[in-house]
Amino acid sequence: MSPIDLHSHSTVSDGLFTPSELIRHAAAQGVRVLALTDHDDVAGLEEAHEAAAEAGVALVNGVEISVTWNNRSVHIVGLRIDPAYAPLRAGLAAIRAGRGERARLMAAELEKAGIPGSLEGAYAYAANPGIISRTHFARFLVEKGIVKDIRTVFKKYLVKGKPGYVAHRWADFADAIGWIQASGGIAVLAHPGRYDLGRTNLASLIADFKEAGGEAIEVVTGSHTADQFAQFARYAKEYDLLASSGSDFHGLGESRMDLGRLPNLPSGCKPVWHNWPEISSPEFQVLSPESGLARHPARMAQHSPLRTQD
Ligand code: AMP
Ligand code: MN
Ligand code: MN
Ligand code: MN
Repeated sequence: MSPIDLHSHSTVSDGLFTPSELIRHAAAQGVRVLALTDHDDVAGLEEAHEAAAEAGVALVNGVEISVTWNNRSVHIVGLRIDPAYAPLRAGLAAIRAGRGERARLMAAELEKAGIPGSLEGAYAYAANPGIISRTHFARFLVEKGIVKDIRTVFKKYLVKGKPGYVAHRWADFADAIGWIQASGGIAVLAHPGRYDLGRTNLASLIADFKEAGGEAIEVVTGSHTADQFAQFARYAKEYDLLASSGSDFHGLGESRMDLGRLPNLPSGCKPVWHNWPEISSPEFQVLSPESGLARHPARMAQHSPLRTQD
């Protein structure tokens, strides 16, 4: 199991834990390096840093940006970004504004399908009204007993061809990669196995990503099967991309994978964290940069500067 998790959500986007709760849960689950990667917003990072200092977790500044590539929605994770970088902040603010408008259109579509009140219902689940997402609509549909669980919502509603779906134009693919890089961060193609692309489109997505300056892809994620870990490890090698790993945790009961449950990267992958001071500094040498695994857990307890419980 890896103590590094580079993809997670809080109530600042569509997660169920506040940033502080998320950090405490991460620490309790044995995660020592966590990236908070809320959708299209960096507002949770300040609170998360305070909690991380207390809990003994190394927090990586992150964000998950919604972009459009060839008329499809794709997610780009930014790691080690500067959340104060003005062009990044402006880009994210524009995406959030688009979300508000999209939500009104989604509610109108649901109303036509005989489901009233979904706009207010969804916003009731959005602790941060700046980020209103399909997840919040999904929670409302489950609350009303219209659908039995969140997973089923994304089969019967809110997806192409189903009630409540609204086509949407997100940020430009290359712009988002540019904001991340210009802020000092690393652009990571999120859960590439989830886009339901054929071989050819997948290859052109990865090639375009690389061409635009993308540096890493998620190989291990809660969204991939074990076969996909191996498949994307091969893509990473073929395209000379670094490999990332993250649970995409949103909350207990809603996520496929809890924090602290990530397997190690397949052998041969070059981890996106290979040269990060959080992991390569002397205090962290007990963590193998190859696998993300603590080589000597007993020694880690002795030497760790992040140990909080005596
Ligand atoms: P949005 O950004 O508003 O389009 O909402 C996308 C979010 O919906 C994702 O970040 C996931 O949290 C959630 N989501 C999408 N598909 C599924 C699914 N099949 N099961 C559970 N959650 C999903
Ligand atoms: Mn989400
Ligand atoms: Mn995503
Ligand atoms: Mn995510």
